[in-house]
Amino acid sequence: MKIHDVAILGTGFGGLGMALRLRERPDTDFVVLEKAAGVGGTWRDNTYPGAACDVRSHLYWLSFTEPPEWSRTYGEQAEILRNIERLVEASGLASRIRFNTEVIDATWDDDRLLWRIRTSTDEIIAARHFVAAWGQLNRPSFAGIEGRDRFRGPLFHSARWQHDVPLEGRRVACIGVGPSAAQFIPEVARQAGHLTVFQRTPNYVVPRLDRPYTADEQRVFRAMPFQRDASRQAIYAEHESWHEAMRLGTPVAAGFTAMARAQLESQVSDPALREKLWPDYPIGCKRIMVTDDFYPALVRPNVTLVTSGIVGIEPAGIRTRDGTLHEVDVVIFGTGFETETQLGVADIKGHGGKSLRRAWKPVPEAYLGINVSGFPNLYILYGPNTNLGHSSIILMMECQIDYTLRAIQAASAHGAQALDVKATVMADFNRWLQEELAGSSWAGSCSSWYKHAGGRISNNWPGSVEDYRKRTAVFDIAEYEQIRLAEPASA
Ligand code: NAP
Repeated sequence: MKIHDVAILGTGFGGLGMALRLRERPDTDFVVLEKAAGVGGTWRDNTYPGAACDVRSHLYWLSFTEPPEWSRTYGEQAEILRNIERLVEASGLASRIRFNTEVIDATWDDDRLLWRIRTSTDEIIAARHFVAAWGQLNRPSFAGIEGRDRFRGPLFHSARWQHDVPLEGRRVACIGVGPSAAQFIPEVARQAGHLTVFQRTPNYVVPRLDRPYTADEQRVFRAMPFQRDASRQAIYAEHESWHEAMRLGTPVAAGFTAMARAQLESQVSDPALREKLWPDYPIGCKRIMVTDDFYPALVRPNVTLVTSGIVGIEPAGIRTRDGTLHEVDVVIFGTGFETETQLGVADIKGHGGKSLRRAWKPVPEAYLGINVSGFPNLYILYGPNTNLGHSSIILMMECQIDYTLRAIQAASAHGAQALDVKATVMADFNRWLQEELAGSSWAGSCSSWYKHAGGRISNNWPGSVEDYRKRTAVFDIAEYEQIRLAEPASA
């Protein structure tokens, strides 16, 4: 059986970044497993109208590859995906990717010290190291709303947009007002005869000020790449300063709250509608929405905002708690993703057959979001407590990729086939993490996908990107059990 040095799950920014860095090491053999027919992760799945990134384009790219020539200050989905595809093409990475190959389960072999990864193509792929870049936001949630199967018209989720369903002139319902919905609502409102938006909890909204780069700017970026790099650095620094908005009661949080209030007041004149749209929890507790066209869409004459809770879906529409049946032709769910388990469908079994699914009940935990004790040589990208509220997640994944490379190198330098983070190290880290998170805005009085049902914040990193960079800059092998293959018994 062929044993790969590394198997990577996923071809979003994390998996591709890992593969590109591994390719710099010709002595390391790796394979990439991708369940879909194409690369791009979330940017492949989310094709809803208006889909775009809320981090500016110059910062939203892998820093160690040639940056694309972005057409706008904020990248739109089609452009981001096209740039990812071009990167894969230009780097020749496609030949290393096994498409339409979903990981069904992965089991650590304690005797041979390797991962046995079973795929949907019914193969077992063996690899010494397993890098799981399965992402956190790819399993659509329908929020447990009942009656979906009884609805007589088209009904779909924002991450599975049905582009063949015409919306022109029709009565459309949108459930949810999160970052995804805030992007497609303006587009749908322009087309629909009537749009009914079902809001359970309002979000803070701040200005986006997106615009195309001018031809002159493009020329300067092309001729003087340091200008483009300087732009990236400036955006990075600005985002880092926003980290304080993610801490309860800080002046930066107050500044962001004032900015959001000014945006609401300038775009919504009706006091009753303002009241419905203004949150009653601290800013940052849910993701702050960066958009200029969400409120203007809601004040259109063909749009109604409904705040009465949803009871369920009926053949003709959506029934709310106040007894009203909102009759519609199409229902769109902007209800986010299943994130509680943080696991994809894959079943991961570590040392002694220990199940990751069980280990992560009730709450997922890892060391630096990357390693989990009892799961040797498993490296997670965008794992527990590595999400951000203030900057680009790609920056965090780059730290995780570098850390993984250091770990693989350290294992080899120490003659160990496997490394397993010590349980005490992971426990101490998580204790520290939760203490830090207690003062974060996510600890505020709201529910979000950052938090577990029990209230524990299981998704977000409490510090700045720079803090995470420092924490992951050094790989300390003393924090890991070193595991070596047993010497074959002498005859
Ligand atoms: P989300 O943030 O989880 O929002 C889901 C929405 O559905 C919320 O408004 C939620 O209301 C609502 N909802 C859930 N159950 C409901 C119910 N029973 N009745 C009425 N409303 C209900 O999901 P998302 O908008 O897809 O965004 C998920 C994450 O993706 C974001 O936080 C962000 O990290 C990422 N994202 C990023 C970008 C980007 O530009 N980079 C764009 C889109 C998404 P409650 O608030 O009351 O739960």
